[in-house]
Amino acid sequence: MKYVLVIPDGCADEPQASLGNQTPLQAANVPHMDAVALAGEVGQTDNVPESMPSGSDVGTMSLFGYDPLEFHTGRAPLEAAAQGIELGANDWAIRCNLVTVEDGRMRSFTAGQIPNELGAHLIGLMQQACCGDEHWKFHPGVSYRNLLLYRARDGKAPFADDTHSTPPHDITDQLIAEHLPMGSGACDLRALMDKSVELFANDEQNQSRRSRDELPATQIWLWGEGRRPALTPFVERFGVESAVITAVDLLRGIGRLLGWDVVEVEGATGYIDTDYAAKGRAAIETLKSKDFVVVHVEATDEASHEGNAEEKVTALERIDADIVGPVHEYLKQQGDYRLLVCPDHPTFLRTKTHSHGYVPFAMCGSDIKADDAATYDEIVASQAGLTLDEGHRLMNRFFSRG
Ligand SMILES: [Zn+2]
Repeated sequence: MKYVLVIPDGCADEPQASLGNQTPLQAANVPHMDAVALAGEVGQTDNVPESMPSGSDVGTMSLFGYDPLEFHTGRAPLEAAAQGIELGANDWAIRCNLVTVEDGRMRSFTAGQIPNELGAHLIGLMQQACCGDEHWKFHPGVSYRNLLLYRARDGKAPFADDTHSTPPHDITDQLIAEHLPMGSGACDLRALMDKSVELFANDEQNQSRRSRDELPATQIWLWGEGRRPALTPFVERFGVESAVITAVDLLRGIGRLLGWDVVEVEGATGYIDTDYAAKGRAAIETLKSKDFVVVHVEATDEASHEGNAEEKVTALERIDADIVGPVHEYLKQQGDYRLLVCPDHPTFLRTKTHSHGYVPFAMCGSDIKADDAATYDEIVASQAGLTLDEGHRLMNRFFSRG
């Protein structure tokens, strides 16, 4: 049996006035997703527990069958895994943004999309300043997105479950003083942030950005801290060798931690200009050696963040025509299969941000009985009668026999 999960990231939404009071899924021409709904069962699922922030890390963990309340230990450990950084049992990974704070307020959580080279230079300054303490290890990443590791060596880390930090993208234009790290080890994090203020203020290359009307990085912002999550390998839980196709680091990280292959596709951008057809072809190719393939497409989420309803509809239609259609056709030809379409979380065009709440799913294939639902959208899914309040249970259903 072959299994495929297609994730149109953040595609679930509300009815839009600009789309004639339809949701993007209702407005989009998605005959292949509708065919899955018609041939199989439709329902709704909640992938993001109320107490957790809505994002792809939490949502996809649920979608892959792992309760995020039990397994999610923070965002940074997943990003470390994506970069192939191994964490010891007592090590911590911490996200290290380069940010611009002005008049005590978070002006830019990206330091004006700081270029890679300057970002790496500033992260290098931080590493130099910490060279007396062998626990801290900075890892330059892409632009403003960097990582800080606390290598515990044989000892204990200063952090604990009560360590609390705030994502900088959640406090744009707000006073940072109210959102500094709290709890165990917070003083260490604050001390590093303070150190960066002084170092970055005196760095000429950084400050020269002002003369070009660009934002300099005024400091680092530390958040998303956590230990390595103890994820049972997917093959042990569900008995299938798997691979994920994605352009997003977080998803690569979760995939690696689950023991999946990560398939890189040329032209996959994680943006609305991604090469959809290349992803569809890669999925079919990967099915020849793997029993379960996850195809994740970020474009629907990106269009939502931009508040662009038309682009969101287009992205859905491309996912339908270039991925769901050809993959379903291939699956039918090769024998027993199951196909599931489900996003990780809703992303509302209205708020341009991730939201909590139900997302629609449709699955069809061997031994899955057809219900009355004939289209794939939020409204039909909410009326189908099949509701999973714990999204991580959907995988059990998808892989269940008989
Ligand atoms: Zn997402």
